Amino acid sequence: MNKIEHIGIAVRDLQESNKLFAKLLGTPSYKIEKVESEGVSTSFFKIGDVKIELLEATREDSPIAKFIEKRGEGIHHIAYDVDDIKDEVDRLKVEGFNVINDVPKQGADNKKVVFLHPKSTNGILVELCEERKDEKN
Ligand code: ZN
Repeated sequence: MNKIEHIGIAVRDLQESNKLFAKLLGTPSYKIEKVESEGVSTSFFKIGDVKIELLEATREDSPIAKFIEKRGEGIHHIAYDVDDIKDEVDRLKVEGFNVINDVPKQGADNKKVVFLHPKSTNGILVELCEERKDEKN
């Protein structure tokens, strides 16, 4: 893994949290994006080399809605940048990690993403992300 790509934070109200994080970080959100397949609206902030991703549920059965119901607002996942997501998934499976989706799916911010179950990673959902190259679209 190369670095932390972003930290995902579950919020109840994206508009309100956008204002809050703009004040906190001293910089506005640079991108708002809906990922319909995941039932989330996202907003991205950049601080140095790392991003903060705010996530709001767009429907009741969204994983974010379920997360907030159980645990309240807060850190939802940590995303690590990888060069080759398939290699990394193979490596982590051999190491015994519980991979939620073997086949990478389309994430926000032009990424291919795979999640590891928090039960195998000390309670924090882990996202692997690989920058999407155009020819795969
Ligand atoms: Zn993410």
